[in-house]
Amino acid sequence: MDMDMARLTAHQAAIKEANLNVRDLSSEEESEIGDALAAVPRVNGVAIHGLEVLDASEEESADGDGDGDSDDEWEVESIFEDTLGEMDDQQLFDGDPEACTYEEAVQFRRQLRDEGPEEFCRKTVEAGTISAKKLLTAFNIRPPPFLEGSPDDAYYGLLSLGISRELSKRIKLPHYNTIDDAVNLIKQSRNIIVLTGAGISTSLGIPDFRSKGTGLYSKLEHLGLSDPQEVFDINTFREDPHIFYSVAKDIIPDHERTTPTHAFIHLLQQKGKLLTNYSQNIDNIESIAGILPEKLVQCHGSFATASCIVCKYQLPGEKIFPDIKAGRIPRCDKCIERLRQLRAPNTMKRKRSGNGQDKKRRRFDTNSDSEEEEDYDIPEAGVMKPDITFFGEPLPDKFSERLTNHDKEKVDLVIVIGTSLKVAPVSEVVPYLPSHIPQIYISRETVSHVNFDIDMLGDCDIVVAELCRRADWELKHEMIPDDQQIEVMTANGFPSRHHFNVIKPKKEEE
Ligand SMILES: [Zn+2]
Repeated sequence: MDMDMARLTAHQAAIKEANLNVRDLSSEEESEIGDALAAVPRVNGVAIHGLEVLDASEEESADGDGDGDSDDEWEVESIFEDTLGEMDDQQLFDGDPEACTYEEAVQFRRQLRDEGPEEFCRKTVEAGTISAKKLLTAFNIRPPPFLEGSPDDAYYGLLSLGISRELSKRIKLPHYNTIDDAVNLIKQSRNIIVLTGAGISTSLGIPDFRSKGTGLYSKLEHLGLSDPQEVFDINTFREDPHIFYSVAKDIIPDHERTTPTHAFIHLLQQKGKLLTNYSQNIDNIESIAGILPEKLVQCHGSFATASCIVCKYQLPGEKIFPDIKAGRIPRCDKCIERLRQLRAPNTMKRKRSGNGQDKKRRRFDTNSDSEEEEDYDIPEAGVMKPDITFFGEPLPDKFSERLTNHDKEKVDLVIVIGTSLKVAPVSEVVPYLPSHIPQIYISRETVSHVNFDIDMLGDCDIVVAELCRRADWELKHEMIPDDQQIEVMTANGFPSRHHFNVIKPKKEEE
């Protein structure tokens, strides 16, 4: 569970390469669908072009202790999404003759589960009733452009991955579909896990770190970084904290305001229904909204505290905000104090340090007459860093501890809000929890790598306001107008997918 985020990037690169190899492999003559797929039914993973793909049955039997396996599985899935074109179920409808219709897709997915992958492939691709290229679309994979014009067996590798992924997905519970089902679930549940991401804070103007165009990353282009993630890379920070601090003033939280969605989570807590809020956000607004520390896991840390990268001295985060806002690099008071004491008998120290260098010089004698050693060991006070989790740093222990030893047994409803669930560790929560626990989704857009029972799409502040109205709960918040009216449209052909919109108030007079 404590997956190091840095691994992801390396892994992504590997998989991109692996996917490019699909073409080479499939052009070999002995490439048979059987070779690519035989692996899938066997439990312990198959190297498909160098990837370990795990079968769902293994995940379920590994009851939650080690979890290295589900990490790997998660990585494959997530990278899948990033690397390959992902098709939403609704796109299947678009009348593309190269793609399955939604009904066909549903039918193929059911057939796969009923018959198992071997039988499924025998009756479909091997029997020639459908091409692998088209069957891919039933598993939400868009055939990649670089394979266009290739023989059909070029798609076998991807199809195999798609089948594995499909089998590892939780199956949607058929009896929860409507908004009223969602409201009833919320009213009846006693131990709700709420998973939150950037989408719940964007209405305060807090940039979403990942979204293109509006996100923070696009603001970082002017810094000339090869990869904007470097801003949050611990090694980059150690080398040059200016990079992080040049953007930090744009992301430190405005410590006053919350959103209606934060208020909704707080309301769940007040009603004794909140088991845990796992947040991906580092803005610490959950705390401002009154979520109790014991019910809150900030999976990527937060600005609530800051620590010295040298001596680990920790302060409340807002102590360094004035420096951040002024564009200064905050230094550690403890280190400064210690250095002052060390420097007090100034001349003596200098001599001693000179001697030390001589010794050093003797030891590494060969070519050490460079001038730079002169100021080599003048120590500096450590830089303070907000306790947000950078790439290359371990995630907070509290996450897997709480999920495994506390929440897993208790949870009776999962509400995912404002996150596409593609980033560890939050992305690991859903597949980890028992699959019979209802899971509902509130966000702007659907995701296709998780089967939620109910999708409520739109601005999450609007969705929660409407849920509360229907539950007869009072959700007071300055950003919710008293006369707000919301319309809900159920997507055609998708009884569990609903779009929420504010009805513009009609003007009384023209
Ligand atoms: Zn320090």
